[in-house]
Amino acid sequence: MSLAETGSHDLQHIDFDQYARMALCHQPTPIEAMVRLSEHLGGPSLFIKRDDCTGLATGGNKTRKLEFLLGEALAKHADMLVTQGAVQSNHVRQTAAAACRAGLKCHALLERRVPDRDAAYEETGNVFLDKVFGATLEFRPGGLDMNAEAMAVTEKLRAEGHRPYFIPGGGSNATGALGYASCAQEIAMQAQATGQTFDWLVMATGSTGTQAGLVAGFHAIGLDLPVMGVSVRQPRERQVDAVHGLTKKTLEKLNAPAIPASKILVDDGYVGEGYGIPAPSTLEAISMAAKFEGILLDPVYSAKGMAGLIGLIREGFFKATDNVLFLHTGGSAALFAYEDTILAGNA
Ligand SMILES: *Cc1c(COP(=O)(O)O)cnc(C)c1O
Repeated sequence: MSLAETGSHDLQHIDFDQYARMALCHQPTPIEAMVRLSEHLGGPSLFIKRDDCTGLATGGNKTRKLEFLLGEALAKHADMLVTQGAVQSNHVRQTAAAACRAGLKCHALLERRVPDRDAAYEETGNVFLDKVFGATLEFRPGGLDMNAEAMAVTEKLRAEGHRPYFIPGGGSNATGALGYASCAQEIAMQAQATGQTFDWLVMATGSTGTQAGLVAGFHAIGLDLPVMGVSVRQPRERQVDAVHGLTKKTLEKLNAPAIPASKILVDDGYVGEGYGIPAPSTLEAISMAAKFEGILLDPVYSAKGMAGLIGLIREGFFKATDNVLFLHTGGSAALFAYEDTILAGNA
């Protein structure tokens, strides 16, 4: 059923504390109205779920996933986390901070996935924060199978006597996705508590754990709230396949029935030239969110998601009466690695 049809006892309740979990996240994160941006765009009523305010090391969506990944790592008596990401990975930064909270070491592989960046790109923003948290870093050229690389390093560290716990890129496996299944339930509870209904949820989708977790979570509690993922990297079909695959595994973990791939919605019209390369629509979204709402987006993910929301409104995708919830997935630490590009696009 939709949120408009639900009473307070109509949805299934999932107890996420049945899974191993470490508290890392400020939650529930607020849902706020974007009054000035809604008015400016003249479309549906826009709301924002502030997962940029998850509280760990400047926030972001990886923190919810890390609650369950750290839970598993600690249950397995790990003494070290091993993960990977692009150079300006928000996931690596949040993993490095979570490791500190848990008293673990963190080792990360950083892929030079984005071409033609200046020297500062490898020093500032998230890379700087990774170092503040004491993570050890190794760089890799672009285009490798980075999860395979990181797993090989994990095995090497194990052979040297460490107890490493491997976390895939973006924290996107079924354990990590539980964080966003839990967020789906949090959104439903906030909506019921305030009487504010939502017709759509829009967000940026990359390594898939966030979208897969949300879709699985809404399905498992019995709420029909369509989730539109705006791809930051891949063409639609590949992203749908990847999200659907992880949704299936997440639903198994939740003991809930599977869903068809037709339920996975992805728009790939805002990728621009590729991962980590802001398109003109990305820069416009950063400028609009800043100037109408005082909100910082990031040039790799959340601004491509917001560009998708803006574009869908302009093409008349939503009804004027719709309430649309944008999930802010964080990432503002990466702004500092793109200062010149962003100021040039900030007309
Ligand atoms: C990782 C990330 C995303 C994408 O989430 P996935 O679960 O990888 O699809 C979106 N926004 C920000 C800021 C991120 O760091």
